[in-house]
Amino acid sequence: MKITDVKVHLLRKKLSSTMRISRGGFTFREHAVIEVVTDAGIFGLGEGVGDPRMVKAIVEGVMGEEVKGLDPLNIEGIRKKLLDGKVYFERKGSVICAASGIETACWDILGKDLKVPVYQLLGGLARDKVEVYASDVYWEEDPRRMAANAERIAKLGIRTIKVHLGCEPPEKEVDRIRILREVLGPDVSLMVDLNAGYDGPSALRAARLWEPYNIYWLEEPVHPGLANVQASLRRQTGIPIASGENEFRLEGFKHLFDQGAVDIAMPDIGRVGGIQEARDICSLANAFGVPVSPHNFSSGVLLAATAHLMFAVPNTQLLEIDMSDNAVYHDFFPEPIQIKDGFAFLSDRPGLGVELGQEILDSYCENS
Ligand SMILES: [Mg+2]
Repeated sequence: MKITDVKVHLLRKKLSSTMRISRGGFTFREHAVIEVVTDAGIFGLGEGVGDPRMVKAIVEGVMGEEVKGLDPLNIEGIRKKLLDGKVYFERKGSVICAASGIETACWDILGKDLKVPVYQLLGGLARDKVEVYASDVYWEEDPRRMAANAERIAKLGIRTIKVHLGCEPPEKEVDRIRILREVLGPDVSLMVDLNAGYDGPSALRAARLWEPYNIYWLEEPVHPGLANVQASLRRQTGIPIASGENEFRLEGFKHLFDQGAVDIAMPDIGRVGGIQEARDICSLANAFGVPVSPHNFSSGVLLAATAHLMFAVPNTQLLEIDMSDNAVYHDFFPEPIQIKDGFAFLSDRPGLGVELGQEILDSYCENS
């Protein structure tokens, strides 16, 4: 089998309300969905979770040409070309995201060719369901509105909810946490994502002030390059620290683990180098005694890839789900990922079980 073409579909969805996090407000979501086409009539889907326009330029300008003529079933060959072959110049950033999307698409092709789901290729089912968490309670001026959104999600049976804080200093944000905890009660787990919004001293003040509210994890408290600062914070608080969504490749995570910077690792398949790289990061994390909760905040293609990894790899936990209508999720699934009583169930369709229908292109793609 040979790769004959690689396309990037830029999907863009305007949001009904602004998504506000410590890094600013967003009014739309954009996804770079990568389609790898073969001479066997099989195509595969993946996603490059970087700057979507940069990913498109990299794939269409350079990387697509590099893989044309290669065998997509030889995933190690693809990895060698796109990842290991570039370490002198490209070790992080959108180039690795672009490679991640192509690699993921090759797993989809391999699964379709062998007529088995990707989780089977990764070793088979380690579990038949995985608990989900909702990550879409965004910062709002009025804490009651945040609490109402969190309550809506909890009523759907989701037992773990993530809120985005850090738009104001820790002393002001504590009221939001108190109100959220009051509304949700003691039985719903509450995560706080700072999206790297604080410096070291502010993050430490936050951790000390917020500790009484039983925070499940504190995510990306500081800039992703400051593993040593995060390690210092981690030593001084009882709140578990999660991060990794802005880290790349196996060695990026080895650095986090060596520094003692994380309690929970959050690799993103569309960013770290693809499915094999994410699988390797899970094994490495296991050797450090660190559980993995993959970052999963993009389209249905990344959701599918993440779910297949988690169903196959035992030391993963809590599948991230966007419970708002912001994500382009469901249109990708001929057989939807079922969510029941806070757990996700996966179909046994071959490959990743996703399709790129004309309806998606007509609805979200600018240049279809
Ligand atoms: Mg995050």
